[in-house]
Amino acid sequence: MIATYSHLVDEDVDNAFAALAGVELPESDRASESPEPVQCGQCHCVMPPGSRFCARCGMTLTVEAAESLNTVIRAAEAVISNPNDPEVLTILLEARARMAMKGGGET
Ligand SMILES: [Zn+2]
Repeated sequence: MIATYSHLVDEDVDNAFAALAGVELPESDRASESPEPVQCGQCHCVMPPGSRFCARCGMTLTVEAAESLNTVIRAAEAVISNPNDPEVLTILLEARARMAMKGGGET
Protein backbone atom coordinates (compact mmCIF):
# COMPACT_ATOMS: atom_id res chain seq x y z
CA MET A 1 0.00 0.00 0.00
CA ILE A 2 2.65 2.47 1.05
CA ALA A 3 4.88 1.32 -1.80
CA THR A 4 2.11 2.20 -4.26
CA TYR A 5 1.79 5.72 -2.94
CA SER A 6 5.50 6.39 -2.70
CA HIS A 7 5.90 5.14 -6.26
CA LEU A 8 3.32 7.66 -7.45
CA VAL A 9 5.01 10.44 -5.54
CA ASP A 10 8.41 9.52 -6.97
CA GLU A 11 6.95 9.56 -10.46
CA ASP A 12 5.33 12.94 -9.88
CA VAL A 13 8.60 14.36 -8.64
CA ASP A 14 10.45 12.93 -11.65
CA ASN A 15 7.91 14.42 -14.02
CA ALA A 16 8.07 17.78 -12.30
CA PHE A 17 11.85 17.88 -12.50
CA ALA A 18 11.80 16.70 -16.09
CA ALA A 19 9.31 19.40 -16.98
CA LEU A 20 11.46 22.02 -15.25
CA ALA A 21 14.47 20.85 -17.20
CA GLY A 22 12.50 20.79 -20.44
CA VAL A 23 12.89 17.06 -20.80
CA GLU A 24 10.03 14.84 -21.79
CA LEU A 25 9.65 11.53 -19.99
CA PRO A 26 7.96 8.64 -21.77
CA GLU A 27 4.45 8.20 -20.46
CA SER A 28 2.40 5.19 -21.44
CA ASP A 29 -0.94 6.62 -20.35
CA ARG A 30 -0.55 9.97 -22.04
CA ALA A 31 -3.71 10.70 -24.04
CA SER A 32 -2.32 13.39 -26.29
CA GLU A 33 -2.84 11.55 -29.57
CA SER A 34 -6.60 11.71 -29.74
CA PRO A 35 -7.89 11.53 -33.33
CA GLU A 36 -10.79 13.85 -32.51
CA PRO A 37 -10.86 17.50 -33.54
CA VAL A 38 -10.12 19.79 -30.62
CA GLN A 39 -12.20 22.78 -29.68
CA CYS A 40 -10.55 25.83 -28.22
CA GLY A 41 -11.78 26.49 -24.70
CA GLN A 42 -11.38 30.22 -25.16
CA CYS A 43 -12.78 31.14 -28.58
CA HIS A 44 -14.53 27.79 -29.36
CA CYS A 45 -12.78 27.55 -32.72
CA VAL A 46 -12.54 23.87 -33.81
CA MET A 47 -9.01 22.82 -34.72
CA PRO A 48 -7.85 19.67 -36.58
CA PRO A 49 -6.86 16.58 -34.57
CA GLY A 50 -3.41 16.84 -33.02
CA SER A 51 -3.45 20.63 -32.82
CA ARG A 52 -1.56 21.97 -29.84
CA PHE A 53 -2.46 25.62 -30.12
CA CYS A 54 -5.52 27.46 -31.36
CA ALA A 55 -4.74 29.06 -34.72
CA ARG A 56 -7.20 31.82 -34.00
CA CYS A 57 -6.40 33.00 -30.47
CA GLY A 58 -3.21 31.07 -29.61
CA MET A 59 -4.71 29.26 -26.62
CA THR A 60 -3.06 25.95 -25.69
CA LEU A 61 -5.29 23.02 -26.65
CA THR A 62 -3.51 20.09 -25.00
CA VAL A 63 -2.13 19.44 -21.55
CA GLU A 64 1.24 18.90 -23.20
CA ALA A 65 1.19 22.29 -24.90
CA ALA A 66 0.13 23.95 -21.65
CA GLU A 67 2.98 22.21 -19.84
CA SER A 68 5.47 23.36 -22.47
CA LEU A 69 4.20 26.89 -22.12
CA ASN A 70 4.35 26.69 -18.33
CA THR A 71 7.91 25.40 -18.54
CA VAL A 72 8.93 28.41 -20.60
CA ILE A 73 7.09 30.80 -18.26
CA ARG A 74 8.66 29.23 -15.16
CA ALA A 75 12.11 29.33 -16.75
CA ALA A 76 11.61 32.96 -17.75
CA GLU A 77 10.58 33.83 -14.21
CA ALA A 78 13.64 32.01 -12.86
CA VAL A 79 15.87 34.03 -15.19
CA ILE A 80 14.20 37.26 -14.09
CA SER A 81 14.76 36.49 -10.42
CA ASN A 82 18.28 35.08 -10.94
CA PRO A 83 19.63 36.91 -14.00
CA ASN A 84 23.24 36.00 -13.20
CA ASP A 85 22.65 32.28 -12.76
CA PRO A 86 23.83 30.51 -15.94
CA GLU A 87 21.87 27.41 -14.98
CA VAL A 88 18.44 29.04 -15.23
CA LEU A 89 19.43 30.57 -18.56
CA THR A 90 20.23 27.09 -19.85
CA ILE A 91 16.82 25.87 -18.69
CA LEU A 92 15.14 28.76 -20.51
CA LEU A 93 17.01 28.07 -23.73
CA GLU A 94 16.16 24.38 -23.57
CA ALA A 95 12.52 25.15 -22.87
CA ARG A 96 12.42 27.56 -25.80
CA ALA A 97 13.99 25.00 -28.13
CA ARG A 98 11.49 22.40 -26.98
CA MET A 99 8.62 24.80 -27.53
CA ALA A 100 9.79 25.71 -31.04
CA MET A 101 10.15 22.04 -31.94
CA LYS A 102 6.62 21.18 -30.81
CA GLY A 103 4.82 24.38 -31.78
CA GLY A 104 6.07 24.81 -35.33
CA GLY A 105 4.33 21.93 -37.04
CA GLU A 106 1.95 21.80 -39.92
CA THR A 107 -0.60 24.55 -40.32
ZN1 LIG B 1 -9.00 29.92 -29.64
